[in-house]
Amino acid sequence: MTRSPLHLDADTLNACVSCGLCLPHCPTYRVTGREIASPRGRIAAMRAVEIDGAPVDDAFRTAMEECVSCRGCETACPSGVEFGHLMEATRAALPPPRSRARRTAEWLGYAVVLPRHWLVLACTWAAWLGQRLHLVPARFGPPKLSARSLARSLDIPVGGAPEAWLFTGCVMDAWLRDTHRSVARVMHGAGVRAARPGSGGACCGALHLHAGRAAEARALAARVMRAMPGTAPIVVDSAGCGAAMKEYGTLLGTPEAHDFSARVVDFSEWLVGRQLPPLRRTGTRVVVQDPCHLRNVQKTHGAVRTVLAPAYELVETDDDGLCCGAGGAYAISQRDLSQRILERKVDALHGAIDDPSPIVVSANPGCIVQLRGAGIDARHPADLIAEALP
Ligand code: SF4
Ligand code: SF4
Repeated sequence: MTRSPLHLDADTLNACVSCGLCLPHCPTYRVTGREIASPRGRIAAMRAVEIDGAPVDDAFRTAMEECVSCRGCETACPSGVEFGHLMEATRAALPPPRSRARRTAEWLGYAVVLPRHWLVLACTWAAWLGQRLHLVPARFGPPKLSARSLARSLDIPVGGAPEAWLFTGCVMDAWLRDTHRSVARVMHGAGVRAARPGSGGACCGALHLHAGRAAEARALAARVMRAMPGTAPIVVDSAGCGAAMKEYGTLLGTPEAHDFSARVVDFSEWLVGRQLPPLRRTGTRVVVQDPCHLRNVQKTHGAVRTVLAPAYELVETDDDGLCCGAGGAYAISQRDLSQRILERKVDALHGAIDDPSPIVVSANPGCIVQLRGAGIDARHPADLIAEALP
């Protein structure tokens, strides 16, 4: 029997020719300078385990867990190495962590809370109370929560046969629900009858997939697909969720999943070419931050510029779209590295514009929360478009 402890696709693994062109695009390599913290080093470590019989030890686990899964290396790679799939498969094959506390915390987060939206909301109310009592440090946890926003449900019907679905997600619906309200306003302005998913359609499983919990991710994906039947497009205003849902076809390997993925569109991608009332020219300068899962996976970051340009003066950074260090749960599990990557991003944002408090646009809730934690005024494209509606 062939030994294959990580169950990696040999062709994908061997596609890497160790040229190193991906290294400058890797945020963990940029802040550490360590080969093992680079895509090339990680692939070499995967090969050593998969082919040469090296052990899956603590050093290997650390190398895999320090990756932000930003997939900047994929975009840069001339050999087309599908690094994201290698990393997801590797993490899924890792043995459970030794620490019982960590196993329990992960079980609570991934298996208990995230799949139950009422629990996500209950935890968010607890966090809101903690913020009111000044028990939650400003640089940690959710953005500043609003009881008024949390107490009001979205003014969008559930289920039915809409012209377009608005996927509302788990954490985003709890922490940034006002952005969904902006999306709903824009969809209404475009004359589109929208609905949100019914029961079980909250958590897309992206965080589970990044954490190597592939079986749970597949179960959540199947549930999300059942919650939004039909052929209507599925508008997603979270770049990380949209990227995962566009890959359901690969994840589940069924024709239904491929059909579902083909219906998924990022909010800005969906808005391009739609008829809206003419936007107000605001004269406001806005720095664009490309979420990795919009730029490197969905590759639809150009649409953000297209839809905002009529109303805002857009400013680009010169850091080639390097990651901000959010990476879903990465900002918590790899706090130190995440903050070092964030510092580079904040410098790039400030360097792009002569304004001590710039407005930054980002299409991903994780990036918005990460940037706000560093004192940046980060907004979603939908919020800016809604503000510019007449
Ligand atoms: S992943 Fe691609 S860019 Fe990076 S070393 Fe391998 S072949 Fe070169
Ligand atoms: S996914 Fe991002 S952090 Fe991970 S190796 Fe590739 S560039 Fe580096």
